Amino acid sequence: KASWLSRLKAGLARTSSSLGSVFSLRKIDEELLEDLEATLLMADCGVEATQTLLAELRRRWKHDKLETGEQLRAALAEHLVKLLTPLQQPLVIDGHKPYIIMLSGVNGAGKTTSIGKLARHFQSQGKSVLLAAGDTFRAAAREQLVEWGNRNNVSVIAQDGGDPAAVAFDAISAAKARGIDVVMVDTAGRLPTQLHLMEEIAKVRRVIQKAEPSGPHEVLLVLDGNVGQNALAQLKAFDKAVGITGLIITKLDGTAKGGVIAAIARTHPKPLRFIGVGEGIEDLQPFMATEYVDALLA
Ligand code: GDP
Repeated sequence: KASWLSRLKAGLARTSSSLGSVFSLRKIDEELLEDLEATLLMADCGVEATQTLLAELRRRWKHDKLETGEQLRAALAEHLVKLLTPLQQPLVIDGHKPYIIMLSGVNGAGKTTSIGKLARHFQSQGKSVLLAAGDTFRAAAREQLVEWGNRNNVSVIAQDGGDPAAVAFDAISAAKARGIDVVMVDTAGRLPTQLHLMEEIAKVRRVIQKAEPSGPHEVLLVLDGNVGQNALAQLKAFDKAVGITGLIITKLDGTAKGGVIAAIARTHPKPLRFIGVGEGIEDLQPFMATEYVDALLA
């Protein structure tokens, strides 16, 4: 089985077959810079980040007298790492028991899968985990979650068709009573353009705070790395509604849009806690800017 890093590389290489190959065996000229600009845009770096990077590279080309494509690639890597490093802020669970994590994201983003991976991650650190099945609209999803919890030694608090905020409240009370370390509160995931969804998750957040005034301690947004620039629109909408404190970006093992992280860093930066690089339970990795840029430019 290939390591997650090589899977990340293989996935990102779908764009970067161009991003990497743009540089090879060429001297730097206007045409190369134009090709690079188009490739960065195609990789979903977004207009702002692409222009910033291009301006830096032009400056380096003239000022440092860069000549070869290889030198340009190295300069781009350096600037990308500088851009992405502020997002490299691992999630640290401490100071609160229970540590309350609220999870948001649109359906299909990989929220349920990521919750499973996170539960495994916390358990491997010796922490007990309780899950609030706040997506009360999808009965099948809820049942699946309860079953999955039973198999994996994770208590799941669920309620038939009830109020998601009430589920969150119950879960936090239960976690306090049982001395649980980490509570993950799942929320519904219809599209963020649906205003009442935003109102509903804002209410979940308020009720969490009623159950535990210091919480929630982390508000995660799960984004599908394949949706490119749309991820930014989702980030802005969810941030406005609930105040996002961290991101998980999934499916980076199979995307040609890995530049979206640069767009986020440039226009709406948030700590990128984890990246999803596969469907398996181990396929959630802390974000490391240097590794990521290596993969993107491979
Ligand atoms: P939810 O609707 O947000 O809860 O999404 P799910 O967790 O059900 O995930 C939707 C699909 O994406 C499933 O088929 C998952 O296996 C898949 N998925 C989630 N994360 C990743 C990832 O990092 N890589 C890949 N390749 N697939 C993923």
